Amino acid sequence: MTKSAPLFNRLALIGVGLIGSSIARAARARGAVREIVATAQSAATRRRVAELGIVDQVVETNAAAVAGADLVIACVPVGVCGAVAAEIGPHLSLGATVSDVGSVKGAVIRDMAPHLPAGVQFVPAHPVAGTESSGPDAGFAALFVGRWCILTPPDGANPAAVERLAAFWRALGANVETMPAAHHDLVLAITSHLPHLIAYTIVGTADELAEVTRSEVLKFSAGGFRDFTRIAASDPTMWRDVFLANKEAVLEMLGTFNEDLSQLTRAIRRGDGDALFAHFKRTRAIRRGIVQIGQDSPAPDFGRPHPDLPVEPLPRPYAVSSDD
Ligand code: NAP
Repeated sequence: MTKSAPLFNRLALIGVGLIGSSIARAARARGAVREIVATAQSAATRRRVAELGIVDQVVETNAAAVAGADLVIACVPVGVCGAVAAEIGPHLSLGATVSDVGSVKGAVIRDMAPHLPAGVQFVPAHPVAGTESSGPDAGFAALFVGRWCILTPPDGANPAAVERLAAFWRALGANVETMPAAHHDLVLAITSHLPHLIAYTIVGTADELAEVTRSEVLKFSAGGFRDFTRIAASDPTMWRDVFLANKEAVLEMLGTFNEDLSQLTRAIRRGDGDALFAHFKRTRAIRRGIVQIGQDSPAPDFGRPHPDLPVEPLPRPYAVSSDD
């Protein structure tokens, strides 16, 4: 990775799981900041982060982490963002930029903004990149390369602060787009939150057919079901919080989804092959569009090599991307 001139002096990471540890690794590899201070909720995670040596300093409290930082990023589940903001608010430096990485933006802004003092720049963000793994060992520096990071600055946000944070994410390899939080939540409800809900449903339904699951479903799981199980292995805390925080948009999209599912159900019941064919043709074109814009690989089954075939795996972001 090529290095850029540091954009911030001291980065404070609150939470060092998959996303926080990937930011630490990427920021260091790219020279995007001079120094990284981090903390996490449990002593075990803080100890592990220190062992990994991916930050300059590990401290015990959220308040201590933000002291003297000019960029603070909360990399915690969406449901605790408000509590974290309340803890760090009184300890933030004047002029610091405060951001987050939450998969839902409206609720995070509602919960964090009231605790942030005047003179602090609040620029919420969501890197649309991830895997089904959690914790500091799961992160890697290339996670954000070629992925989108969506910024949702509230009305009146300082344009210079927004641009500086955008430059930070670009330094980590991401493409940056800015949009209103409500629009973000609607778009992500259909592109990420609903697919995760469907994966959780299908894998749960298969599990309820216990006898089948133990034998045929697992044995004969082809790409479709296997990919669902991978998505359904995503962190339960994170996804519980996402559905609670993005309730309205998810319910709206779920309503549309149920109508479309009813139409396909009817087509199957009536033996309407033309309707099924037209639908599948349309969705295939969408998939091709995603590959064309470089957001996934055309390789079969995410490039996972068959155990008997010496196939080179794809670069990691393409091999395991599951976010949201
Ligand atoms: P993760 O691997 O589970 O890490 C969460 C981190 O937050 C852990 O270090 C945890 O500490 C810490 N934490 C929790 N509560 C805290 C508190 N009150 N104070 C300080 N630290 C606290 O989760 P993740 O996958 O990185 O997700 C983090 C955020 O990124 C979520 O908001 C999620 O919506 C968003 N996001 C996730 C993905 C994805 O694919 N995973 C993609 C994009 C965005 P302990 O380990 O000590 O509990």
